[in-house]
Amino acid sequence: MINQSNLIAKESTTKENRIWIRISAACNEKCLFCLDSQAQDGKLIDEDIVKKQIRDGFRPWYTNRVILSWWEATINPKFPEYIAYAKSLGYDRIQTVTNGNMFAIPKFCDKVISLWLQEVTFSLHGHTAQLHDHLTATPWSFHKALKWLIYLRKYHPHVIINIDIVVNKVNVDFLPKIVSFYMKLWIKEFDILQIIPFGRGFAQYKDQLFYNISEHIGALHDTWKLSTLPWVYMWTNRFPAEAFEWFEDLIQDPRKIKSETMGESIEMFDPFIRSQWRKKPECFGDACDVCFLKQYCHEFIASVDSISVPMINPFIIWSDDIQKIDTHNYVVLRWEEFPSEVYKKYGTTPQNFLEFIQNMELKGHQKLVNIPPCIRSKNNSVLYEDYNNLKKEYCVEDYTSNYIKNLYRKKSISCKKCKFNDTCKGIHINFIRAYGFEILHPIE
Ligand code: SF4
Ligand code: SF4
Repeated sequence: MINQSNLIAKESTTKENRIWIRISAACNEKCLFCLDSQAQDGKLIDEDIVKKQIRDGFRPWYTNRVILSWWEATINPKFPEYIAYAKSLGYDRIQTVTNGNMFAIPKFCDKVISLWLQEVTFSLHGHTAQLHDHLTATPWSFHKALKWLIYLRKYHPHVIINIDIVVNKVNVDFLPKIVSFYMKLWIKEFDILQIIPFGRGFAQYKDQLFYNISEHIGALHDTWKLSTLPWVYMWTNRFPAEAFEWFEDLIQDPRKIKSETMGESIEMFDPFIRSQWRKKPECFGDACDVCFLKQYCHEFIASVDSISVPMINPFIIWSDDIQKIDTHNYVVLRWEEFPSEVYKKYGTTPQNFLEFIQNMELKGHQKLVNIPPCIRSKNNSVLYEDYNNLKKEYCVEDYTSNYIKNLYRKKSISCKKCKFNDTCKGIHINFIRAYGFEILHPIE
């Protein structure tokens, strides 16, 4: 059952201006799953660079949030100074993501809170020292983080505390217990991150850490169920949408892909797109099978390789005003940016949406594009736009934005039973987020 209010509440946070700033290329833990351990050279990021990023990141008239982060921000001696600097510029929210080691020192903790650190995200990957310390490869890390968390709760109750958990083969079956454990400490907000195949996690611990989601779906669903408690706020990151059947409001906002491909990693993805995949990312290969970007990368490769796909001519772009019926051959249904816009245009229930599509008045010869036949068989072309229909130029900005808006489609697990499975590409992710996988019905 989609939690619509949850979904719409999350929209407001995606409208906020969020700036992530790396201030240390070093860490005092050695997490097995670290995704960019190879980039850590033990140095601190230059003060001028950090301050420039804080300055440049501020946008007047927006709600501004700065997140001092990576690898372990708190080991930078200038961490308190950067908090004060961000406050002086007018940031509305100053946050850090930390393993909690430094905060176990009460003086440090009191100082950064007094300087206006308002939100702290703890990276805690277990509910016992045995589990957490094993994953961080750092003895006593669990006790230190817990000590600081309890200290904060007691002496600085106004500070917002949340927990992020990297899910992997070692802790996935304990995930409901881990979340429940921190709930008992009055943690209300959780960021659940799927492990990704970069850095030492894949290079050194592939077999120990990577898991098949379908084999552990019970533990994941038990965790997602906890998100339905009215006081719990749960985010998920880098999981495939298929992990959320019945909990689709937890599917990550598709626009987050921008920060993955156009942030720090732009130098890896831009040559890949510009060279029309002749320059593959270094990670290309076995890692793709357990990578949340598989569809993004491989859809692009398939698009480039299908240059000869017959173009629908002319494509009629039809997204701004659904009441307009084109007089040409094709009607192309595209995304809506926010779930609230989907609800406004198509109605709030899956039935509203299905009726809307069924009742669209198309002329006899007009064909629908981008809609699976199980939603409307009449006038369906079973045709989908691909990047060849959309591209302006081969660059990461253009591909990413087109991917998010038009190419990021999903099918349900039950689609395997459908006779259209080989040709159908499903439906845009935002319709799944708004109405759930239940709008798709296999045709036998
Ligand atoms: S899917 Fe893309 S980002 Fe992921 S491992 Fe493969 S090439 Fe790298
Ligand atoms: S059930 Fe799945 S494969 Fe079949 S038409 Fe619908 S989306 Fe396509």
